[in-house]
Amino acid sequence: MASSGAAWEQRWHPLREEWVVVAAHRQDRPWQGERAAASPPPLPEYVETCYFCPRNQRVSGARNPDYQSVFVFDNDHPCVGVDAPQEIEPPPGIYRNAPASGIARVVCYSPKHNVTLAELPVEDITALLAAWRDQYIELGARPEVRHVLTFENKGEVVGVSNPHPHGQIYATNFVFKFIETEAMVCGRYYREQDRVLFQDIIRSEQEDGRRILFESASAIAFLPYFARYAYEAYVAPKATHASLATMSAGELRDLAVALKSLLVRYDNLWQMSFPYVLTLHQAPTDGADYSGFHFHIECHPPLRKPHLLKYLAGPEIGGGNFLSDTRPEAKAAELLSLPDIHYKVAHV
Ligand SMILES: [Zn+2]
Ligand SMILES: [Zn+2]
Repeated sequence: MASSGAAWEQRWHPLREEWVVVAAHRQDRPWQGERAAASPPPLPEYVETCYFCPRNQRVSGARNPDYQSVFVFDNDHPCVGVDAPQEIEPPPGIYRNAPASGIARVVCYSPKHNVTLAELPVEDITALLAAWRDQYIELGARPEVRHVLTFENKGEVVGVSNPHPHGQIYATNFVFKFIETEAMVCGRYYREQDRVLFQDIIRSEQEDGRRILFESASAIAFLPYFARYAYEAYVAPKATHASLATMSAGELRDLAVALKSLLVRYDNLWQMSFPYVLTLHQAPTDGADYSGFHFHIECHPPLRKPHLLKYLAGPEIGGGNFLSDTRPEAKAAELLSLPDIHYKVAHV
């Protein structure tokens, strides 16, 4: 063990009920000083050919309004749609299928083409959280919608070519797998232990303390003990809410502050716009009882180093468990050593 120089450890992921293997080198020093090579040329605030900028025409022919804050519209290239054929041919044998119906929307965070979520003022992030909440309530109320998945893919490494700050919503007739698993696990824990699993996760993080990046009276941001990606982080209200729908205005603002503080540290890490997949984990909207489900935001950055992706290979794709070659404590220490003022602002 000591001679190999590596710390092999299995860590239990309580929300997914699976092992995460940590195989980090003991000698690994916190990443210091490295920056992404050349920063890309600055973008203009408005781009004529952008489908998301105010007043522009989209591929569908619809024209964007001259919006000033958050702007939501139906996705012109939906992966699920209300027009999905309801009559589909059944497959042979044990196979089964169902119509993939739902609603796909795009949420533009700002009329400005050249900002990111991390750079938005707290007031604008709070307005975005309120818009996400309203979408969850509106779409979740539709009888055919069983789940509302709100997410942002950010950066070219996760396939996003348009930098205009935006996210997406899939309101579907099925519950996405991770949420289904979390709802099942949290529901069972609630019935058996009479406790909220995510509250016990927060308490365990507080007891350790090393992975907490931000904490206020009502919100918290941390790298979980069981992180699967190097810089994976959770942002959550400290009180249990099944979704954004029941959060107070003050809680929304506190959550915005916590989220911004995480995203700013991400950008400051290598002084580059940090790519990630950000997902809201809110309770399904199928009418079942979701006591014990605690809304949270999960951020999954795909990079391990400025130009090094976390490749999913044998253990992850082939076997189904994550192998992490970094320790969340070390990654949290890196992020905590950074200022919480965005480097672009700090340099002005
Ligand atoms: Zn734009
Ligand atoms: Zn989750």
